Amino acid sequence: MAHRVTLIPGDGTGPEVTEAMRRVVEATGVAFDWDVQEAGADVIDKYGTPLPDSVLDSIRTNKVAIKGPITTPVGTGFRSVNVAIRMLLDLYANLRAVKSIKGIQSRYEGIDLIVVREATEGLYSGVEHEVIPDQAAESIRIITRKGSERIVRFAFDYARANGRKKVTAVHKANILKATCGLFLKVAREVAEDYPDIEFNDRIVDNMAMQLVLRPHEYDVLVMPNLFGDILSDLSSGLVGGLGVAPGANIGEDMAVFEPVHGSAPKYAGQNKVNPTATILTGVLLLRHLGQKEAAQRVENAVAAVIGAGESVTFDLKPTRDDPTAVGTQEMADAIIAAM
Ligand code: NAD
Repeated sequence: MAHRVTLIPGDGTGPEVTEAMRRVVEATGVAFDWDVQEAGADVIDKYGTPLPDSVLDSIRTNKVAIKGPITTPVGTGFRSVNVAIRMLLDLYANLRAVKSIKGIQSRYEGIDLIVVREATEGLYSGVEHEVIPDQAAESIRIITRKGSERIVRFAFDYARANGRKKVTAVHKANILKATCGLFLKVAREVAEDYPDIEFNDRIVDNMAMQLVLRPHEYDVLVMPNLFGDILSDLSSGLVGGLGVAPGANIGEDMAVFEPVHGSAPKYAGQNKVNPTATILTGVLLLRHLGQKEAAQRVENAVAAVIGAGESVTFDLKPTRDDPTAVGTQEMADAIIAAM
């Protein structure tokens, strides 16, 4: 039977990378019944909101979705649709996989990190206001025992289920004593339930430096929302950039898969950006659906195409203006051919 999956193409370059992903995962032979749902700035005129209820209802019904990035206006305008989906569906665990792929020129080889970002509270709770218009503003950072416990448990359970050895809690408990202090205290308590997994903690600024200098010393990282947002992009930079970093938002009984990168609007409609992040996000989706063999075939094909270095997008070429770079859909074609 076909897997019914909500597909949110997103905006900017989202429709292009999700189309590439869709063609690749369908080429595995696994049957999909896509429930395509529109969200983002482009649908406001039609629905009066960038996030119509029908999108959330579709995810609630199908329990699984894959989405392209969606643009969020900077400074003003509507709240992030991406953050809203995570919060309204209580998709508390934002999982970002950071793995070296042979053939990509980057600072290190053999990196295999998992960044687990809490996605429903922290500084992204959206509780913020102007105290004195144009002079002072305030954002409230909410950290709860419940939110901290479930995200740290998620990280340890993930580590156990995937043969990982170490969990590192990332915080700023030296300064943010109430909020990060609670997060760290709960993390230490939860760690006691997992004696088989090594546990340590790092202050976030030091962690940023450690990731640049000694990334191989780390395995699974777990942290509050804002730190996870920043360090997952930093980690993507260790393995070749946002073009190759897949991700997932996971709740108790629902999952929404999405690449780490944003909508890269300056390249929209140009068939230019790298589809790998979204195709590898499709790999995470296939695994979630129990299609392990198909997932492996896609992963191998991606590695083969990147390893050969020919049919790859501009960001994976030695120079950004390399005339031999191929487009988004041509890279997807090469991946399909390699399968
Ligand atoms: P971005 O990820 O869109 O782009 C950052 C840089 O990485 C740019 O130089 C871009 O060209 C490059 N890049 C991104 N994806 C790439 C790809 N697939 N191939 C090659 N290069 C790629 O981040 P931004 O510019 O900070 O944000 C643009 C918009 O996306 C904003 O509105 C932001 O709010 C939104 N955003 C959405 C999500 C999401 O949907 N989950 C995540 C991050 C940002």
